[in-house]
Amino acid sequence: MQSERGAYVQGETCLPKPLEHLSKEEIERKRVIATIMTKTLSHLTQEYIKNGFEWLLPVIFSKSTDPLWPDPGASIEKRIEAEIYGEMVRTTLSMIVHKIVASSLLIPKLFTLSPNVRIERRDRCLTGWHLYEFTQLDFEVREATSSDIMNFVDKLIKNLILYLRNNAKDELEYLESYNRLNVPDLPLKVFDRIDLEEKYGKDWENVFKENIREPAWVVNIPREFYDYEDFSTGRWDNYDLFLPKYGEVLSGSRREWEYSKIIRKMERDNIRRENFTLLLKLAREGKIKPSAGAGLGVERLVCWIVGSKHIGEVQIFPKIPGLVYDL
Ligand code: ASP
Ligand code: MG
Repeated sequence: MQSERGAYVQGETCLPKPLEHLSKEEIERKRVIATIMTKTLSHLTQEYIKNGFEWLLPVIFSKSTDPLWPDPGASIEKRIEAEIYGEMVRTTLSMIVHKIVASSLLIPKLFTLSPNVRIERRDRCLTGWHLYEFTQLDFEVREATSSDIMNFVDKLIKNLILYLRNNAKDELEYLESYNRLNVPDLPLKVFDRIDLEEKYGKDWENVFKENIREPAWVVNIPREFYDYEDFSTGRWDNYDLFLPKYGEVLSGSRREWEYSKIIRKMERDNIRRENFTLLLKLAREGKIKPSAGAGLGVERLVCWIVGSKHIGEVQIFPKIPGLVYDL
């Protein structure tokens, strides 16, 4: 690996270096990106609070976490389990189960900034779009529909860009992003995954992101049991937001809440019920309420805003698949 402009070069891709190896100019660029991160987080969290969401702190260890399966995009090399107090727990893959339970039992509108540990296959270091540890702005709304969430996200993205153009102009100009970052027209366009598959084939995600100029939605994607599936039509009531040239930045859905459906899907997909004991108990007792929500990848969003070649650049301590630095 040679060293070049803030990065280790591997093949065609530059892998971001740890802080202690950055030159003076590289430190300067990293500092400006950190300011964009601060302004982005400050704006987004205020928007959620203004819209009546409660802010939950994240969890790290739980008996239940996101199965991340079946998901055609997943490439988890290793799942982390640890024994504490004689019980087996897992590090958070996403707080999906917590969101469904908390929005059902306690807080109808919630969000959290949640560290997710996903030990991706090491070849994913080269995508420039994967990390083994990242932060998700994960949110859930009791009784919401998919359109409620998609409309909310449309405005969130548009307002964020407006905010940054007005309040981070110098930083965006320094990063050569100001002219690229246009305020999108709403509503953002919506595409059905079936049409994209027909048009672009199996690799539709990669072709699609090259063919959009503004963030755009893809709906109806088969995946984990918690996304709502209409058994009579085979349609999935879920949605992903894609960023031009970069890829998926947010995914979410209306949720399954009925015990019989959840069980049927777990059996079909070979999901181990014993990893979801509490969720199943609450669903059986009718305590899980319909909800919808989504998770927004914070580093992915900022990577697109600042125009980084590799997402590890927006982390102060890069967590690049296959590369374990000291910090
Ligand atoms: N946070 C979930 C995930 O990581 C997305 C969602 O809310 O559906 O897949
Ligand atoms: Mg998911």
